[in-house]
Amino acid sequence: MKRLCLPTLLLFLVLSSSCAWPWAGQPDEMAPYRPAMQHEAQGQLEMLGPMPRYDIRVHIDPTAERQLTGWERVLVTHWGQDELHKLYFRLYPNLPQYGGGMGIDGVAVNGHTAPFSYEAENTAVHILLPEPLPPDSTAAVELSFDLKVPEREEGYVLCGESRGFLSLPLFYPVLAVRDDRVGVPPWNLDIAPTTHGDVAFVEAGLYRVTATVPSDVVVAATGTVISTTNSSEGEGWTDIHIVGGPRREFMLILNPHFQTASTDACGARVTSYFLPQDRTTGLVALQYAAAALRVYCQRFGPYPFRDMAVVSAPLRYFGMEYPGLTLIGLDVYRQRREDLEFLIAHEMAHQWWYSVVGNDPVNFPWLDEGLTEYSTYAYYEAIYGTPAADALWERRWRAPYQYAVEQGLDAVVNQPSSAFKVTNYETMVYAKAALFFDALRREVGDETYYRLLREYLDRYRYGVATPADFLAAAEDVSGRDLSELYQQWILTAAEP
Ligand SMILES: [Zn+2]
Repeated sequence: MKRLCLPTLLLFLVLSSSCAWPWAGQPDEMAPYRPAMQHEAQGQLEMLGPMPRYDIRVHIDPTAERQLTGWERVLVTHWGQDELHKLYFRLYPNLPQYGGGMGIDGVAVNGHTAPFSYEAENTAVHILLPEPLPPDSTAAVELSFDLKVPEREEGYVLCGESRGFLSLPLFYPVLAVRDDRVGVPPWNLDIAPTTHGDVAFVEAGLYRVTATVPSDVVVAATGTVISTTNSSEGEGWTDIHIVGGPRREFMLILNPHFQTASTDACGARVTSYFLPQDRTTGLVALQYAAAALRVYCQRFGPYPFRDMAVVSAPLRYFGMEYPGLTLIGLDVYRQRREDLEFLIAHEMAHQWWYSVVGNDPVNFPWLDEGLTEYSTYAYYEAIYGTPAADALWERRWRAPYQYAVEQGLDAVVNQPSSAFKVTNYETMVYAKAALFFDALRREVGDETYYRLLREYLDRYRYGVATPADFLAAAEDVSGRDLSELYQQWILTAAEP
């Protein structure tokens, strides 16, 4: 157990006793989150089931120490059948692939100090509730935490400082997913492999975040900035108040040199963040992001959030999805410019498949990656016509999959990311899974295919879907038995 750190504990006590939020005392409890939602989507807030609500204050010092100090209060509603005796929060920055050092400095539940201990290689904290939590009741969990942010060389850097960027995904303790598949106690504490795939499995929550940052940095965030004020910490510091409607995770990326440009698409304000030397490509990225948003809104259903950001990041030539925010690797703005459009088309589709409809990305990575990957077919078809989309199909999915089969690398798609080799992860989880969605579309026809995607979106909006849930939605809407198709593409592999 980590020792209490005195300055952080003092911050914890001061903040938890004074909580002067700019939105305090409002009679409409969803009022704080409405600015993050498009007007037409605000009704979704009333229909949400119990969802964790995060109030976070974080002080970010990007100077030599690269130190974050934070406090959060999370309202956790217990929806199970029995009394709850403990809770788990994940400390994702402690994953080896994130390389951070996150510690908990104090925990209180409903105002009472609660004992805690670290588990799952320090990527989880186990909190013993001072009193059992009955079903359908809510606990206010307060945690103070600190995070030492790693400094990284050039490369694929999701968390830490690299090339002048400070990337902070899941910089706060996040409630672990209760997941009945893992037995009793049903908490998902999986640790994703370091070799490939997404690492965070998180339930959607509502967010109010105040980040105290040096006044000269520009911050891109998963959410809508509602105000920026001078910080009580003195000259040179700014408080940024950000809110997030239902979203799976919250991330911040800072750079003092970011420039921005914005446009509107699908009722959202789309903003491109780029470095001054990448301005031309940054403006092109903005247009690609807006175009993708328009195509997917029309095909899959409305984009619910007020803001969408596309942001350059130290990710080489890769991208990464967050709710309302897409990171695109710096190399794609420069020597890999030809990859920009496809990468943006892919990452933008994650706003539907990962962000709005969630799934376990560690145990069923194909479900969002395959559907996202295949969604780019709809983008290329809408923008450039069917021959261009078919060329994409051949180049990105059919030919690579055929090659994998010839090399004896075919595998069952419905497996956790740890089951794949480095040599076939992408071909199976992206290409072969995309070919399943393609076969499904050809089987049921375009009209039914897009209708079933909209049904899938409606059923699992801000929830978590499994492969069986997707198949059930597809069979319900199409009125067909799709088990043979599913068996062929997702559950079997060619003999090597
Ligand atoms: Zn993806």
